[in-house]
Amino acid sequence: MSMVKLTKTEKRIAFRQKVLDLAGANIMRCYQCGECSGGCPESAVMDLLPNQVIHKIQLGDESVLDTNTFWICSSCLICSARCPKGIDIAKVMESLREISLRAKKSYVTLEALTKEELEELPQIALISSFKKQTS
Ligand code: SF4
Ligand code: SF4
Repeated sequence: MSMVKLTKTEKRIAFRQKVLDLAGANIMRCYQCGECSGGCPESAVMDLLPNQVIHKIQLGDESVLDTNTFWICSSCLICSARCPKGIDIAKVMESLREISLRAKKSYVTLEALTKEELEELPQIALISSFKKQTS
């Protein structure tokens, strides 16, 4: 069977569409107001803020999967409640976890965390991250 080779642009569009399909959220409506990040209790330890994650997805930038943000997210739903555009950002984070796990990309493991990270990371975020990998 011949493999269809996607161009860079097609790959970006396909990645964005995958997130849209899984999250059921129209992230294209985001206008970067930052309300989601402003209320996120875990933002201090995230590689990218929630609004930055949304922007990367809008661009179809798969490098968002290499960040810790969606693993740190504790699914508290504050961002989703604050978004003036009705975007369910927590669901977007969930879809990134799903894509990452399906692709067998690395995720948070106790062994990989440094002593400093273990001291700094919010315990609730760690616990929810581990739980997400077993559910
Ligand atoms: S659901 Fe996740 S991203 Fe949203 S505010 Fe809570 S911790 Fe932050
Ligand atoms: S609150 Fe909504 S519109 Fe504002 S930056 Fe976050 S996702 Fe975008």
